[in-house]
Amino acid sequence: MGFVVAAVLGACVGSFLSLAAWRLPRGESLMWPASHCPACGRTLAWPEILPLLNWLWLRGRCRTCGASIPLRDWLVEGLTAGLWVAVVVLTPPGAGGVAGVLRLLAGLLFISGLLLLLLLDLDVFWLPEPLCRWGLITGLATTALLAAAAGISPFAPLMHHSLAAALGLLGFDLAGVLGTWWLGAPALGGGDGKLAALLGAWLGGRGLLLVLALAVLSGGLFGLLGRLGGYLKPRQPFPFGPFLATAGGLVWLTPELLHRQLLAILLPWLSTLGLALGG
Ligand SMILES: [Zn+2]
Repeated sequence: MGFVVAAVLGACVGSFLSLAAWRLPRGESLMWPASHCPACGRTLAWPEILPLLNWLWLRGRCRTCGASIPLRDWLVEGLTAGLWVAVVVLTPPGAGGVAGVLRLLAGLLFISGLLLLLLLDLDVFWLPEPLCRWGLITGLATTALLAAAAGISPFAPLMHHSLAAALGLLGFDLAGVLGTWWLGAPALGGGDGKLAALLGAWLGGRGLLLVLALAVLSGGLFGLLGRLGGYLKPRQPFPFGPFLATAGGLVWLTPELLHRQLLAILLPWLSTLGLALGG
């Protein structure tokens, strides 16, 4: 029963995330006007705004003008529904009821926010500053609340996660400066450091380190395969935010024991690779 509720609510949130990813870069309001067909402007009637089912019911076309409805909207709704179920399944029950519920709600918020940032960076290479700033503040507030709910003083976890956020931002700024100097062209988007700060606030130092290792490996592999396959031109930029956001979601959903083991494997490997590339 809980899974069905999570899937239905997740699909609705996914529908909103699609809409937000479309409207935010265009400077449009999220609240007004109501959902409409981007081709003919007709406001969608009740059954047409049902997430997941609408696309199947309309067979991917607007009823009035026949313009195709992007398949991606449907995929984002399905993906969000799946992610919400995953958060419910993978959230540890926790000792107390309050801590468990808090972690569940925080996880749903975190994963949905990351998906919105992923879509925006994928579409228009944009990680909006206000969104990252509010994500960071929410992450620190969650850290404090989770500690308090577990009966621990929030001071130490809050300091630790704030430091991780600051190091994430500074680390990316430094890497950007060094990369620009090395390549003679901007190496990193300005938003990546803000996303790293947000992830540090939510995940702490070890979590952020693992996110960076996973994002560098998967992003590097994507760049290499894209070049070999001829999909990317030499020095063609591609957004790094989706790799950071995906790794951030994975780290949130997996147990801390696994993080230690993965870091023990990945860090020596990455430093050897770094030395080989540097040499
Ligand atoms: Zn239409």
